[in-house]
Amino acid sequence: MSVIEELDALQQQDSAIRDLEKKVRDLPLRRRQETDRVDGVGLRLQEARDGVAAGEKNIAAIEDEIETHKAIIARWEKQRQTLRDANEYKAMNQQIDREARALHDDEARLQNARAVVEDARAGVKSMEALKDEQTKFIEDYVAQIDLELAKTQRALLAAKDARAAFVAPLDVPEKRKFLSYYERLGKKYWPVVIHLGKDEACCPGCHMKLPPSKIQEAQRNTKLEDDPAKMKTVACDYCGRLVFKK
Ligand SMILES: [Zn+2]
Repeated sequence: MSVIEELDALQQQDSAIRDLEKKVRDLPLRRRQETDRVDGVGLRLQEARDGVAAGEKNIAAIEDEIETHKAIIARWEKQRQTLRDANEYKAMNQQIDREARALHDDEARLQNARAVVEDARAGVKSMEALKDEQTKFIEDYVAQIDLELAKTQRALLAAKDARAAFVAPLDVPEKRKFLSYYERLGKKYWPVVIHLGKDEACCPGCHMKLPPSKIQEAQRNTKLEDDPAKMKTVACDYCGRLVFKK
């Protein structure tokens, strides 16, 4: 293999490592997103349950008020029987009427409150169904992600182990300048090694136009690929990527 082919092979291996590393970073985020979604449904379910509890409390309070109105009316009706004065009797009747109207209003409020709670209960039911469905889905999904993560981590370890075999042929005196350049630039830009196509005049990495002299230099350099001692590190003036051209 020529030094260029060796660089390409190392770069390909490093690309695979980068992809695996990205996947190892992304999978837990995806897992988190899904579990958060179910947590969101759980939160809405709790809100719906709170709504039912608040509605039930409201109903109990109205029922209390209704009982109080009824007790007052019963007491006043009893008192009315003892009244002998016509004006007092009339006044008592008005008092009882007002209380009866208040009772009537509260009975309407009670009906309304019961309808609200009924709706809230239906909301809880559908939210429970949604939560069950999502919980089942999430369990399968999370198990899948965990499996995939474990597989990816194993593949990453294997790819990193295999890397040494791609570095070794470049780690010799006449090729080391390429290896160290590649390792250094790879921390900043990716990919490092680029090949100019037949009529290509722009760096495929940074898209800047390369001067004709640079292209010729890359071409001369590439022709020496089997004699790395004579080769130079010809690089794009803008981004520093190693440029080769057949
Ligand atoms: Zn460039």
